[in-house]
Amino acid sequence: MIFKIQTFEDPILEKLYNQALEELREFFQFRWEKNTPKLIVVEDRNTINAVYGKPTENWMVAWAEDTRNIFILSRENYEKYSSHKYSEDEFYKLIKHELSHMFYKLITFTDKPRWVNEGISTYISGQLDSTKPIQEFKVFLNYFDKTDAELYKESGYLIKLLTDKFGKDKLSTFIKSLKGVKDQESASKVFFDTFGLELTYAELNKLLS
Ligand SMILES: [Zn+2]
Repeated sequence: MIFKIQTFEDPILEKLYNQALEELREFFQFRWEKNTPKLIVVEDRNTINAVYGKPTENWMVAWAEDTRNIFILSRENYEKYSSHKYSEDEFYKLIKHELSHMFYKLITFTDKPRWVNEGISTYISGQLDSTKPIQEFKVFLNYFDKTDAELYKESGYLIKLLTDKFGKDKLSTFIKSLKGVKDQESASKVFFDTFGLELTYAELNKLLS
């Protein structure tokens, strides 16, 4: 498959990207300066599918490729080729979400556990603002190395809960300690060592109430 690619100016996109990058440097306490990700704007759904390598659902509008590239549906065609409403705020959250995955990868050398990785991206990007708070945790532990819509409902609230109860520095320590973590069992151990809490729904649901 062959793609044509060219640079273009978009001051709004540039502003959103730089703002997200700066806030994430602060959050992760990680001065990422060199080889920061390229933002690659994709014009339509067919091209998204071709670049992504398989058919995508119409809610899928951006993704991160390793720590190098963020692909994102164009602002102009956003509503035409997705199920989302366009706004600058929504776009900002989207970019920040994907960039957050890249910081995570740089710091931990992995994209797992997904319940941490997606949770951080969802929480830090402000995407929780548009979702319903949950009453209890009941699925996220099934998501060490996979992702689907069910995970997004819980993972952001989990990270919010941990941040509210234990503070940002503890969360930061937790992320750094997840470096190279291979399975759910070792993730549970890191969790216990950091927060002094068993990684179970029962323990976490106690904190929720
Ligand atoms: Zn994500």
